Amino acid sequence: MPSGRVHNLINIAAYSVLAAGALYATRQDLLVVTPAQALNFTLAYAAGTFLLSPDLDLAEGKVDSKRHWGVLGVLWVPYGMLFSHRGWSHSWVIGPLTRLLYVALIAALIVGLVRFIAPDLQMPTIPQPIAWKVVLPLLIGYYLSQWLHLIADGVRPDHGLRKSYRKVRGR
Ligand SMILES: [Zn+2]
Repeated sequence: MPSGRVHNLINIAAYSVLAAGALYATRQDLLVVTPAQALNFTLAYAAGTFLLSPDLDLAEGKVDSKRHWGVLGVLWVPYGMLFSHRGWSHSWVIGPLTRLLYVALIAALIVGLVRFIAPDLQMPTIPQPIAWKVVLPLLIGYYLSQWLHLIADGVRPDHGLRKSYRKVRGR
């Protein structure tokens, strides 16, 4: 299994190739990407690589992606205890989703706490309705960063599913 540092290097290298390709494709009018979409993709890709890596399932111990959170890294300890290493956290569709939901849950808890302590404080709101042309680059950037990690780990796209099938079929 590659270390956190190796995973980061693989993702950075892949990003460079992808960015060069995207730049070339837009110059040739094969692809239309607005600067805002490129930025959203990049931010989500970086977050997926450095802050939301599948190896947070080891957050009960020492892991690179937990260290990037600084003191907030301790927030990931329950996630690390909840998910076994390379289990559901390392599945292709559900795995990345578990970390997004986990962040959403913590954010909701913090917002709830702040509202309770300071009811008059203005909180930032999510703009409605959420536009696909904003969300899609975020999702693609995030999922791509996760899938590169899983490919480097040698995890196949049907990881997790195979186990459930076996359970369903009683094997
Ligand atoms: Zn991993």
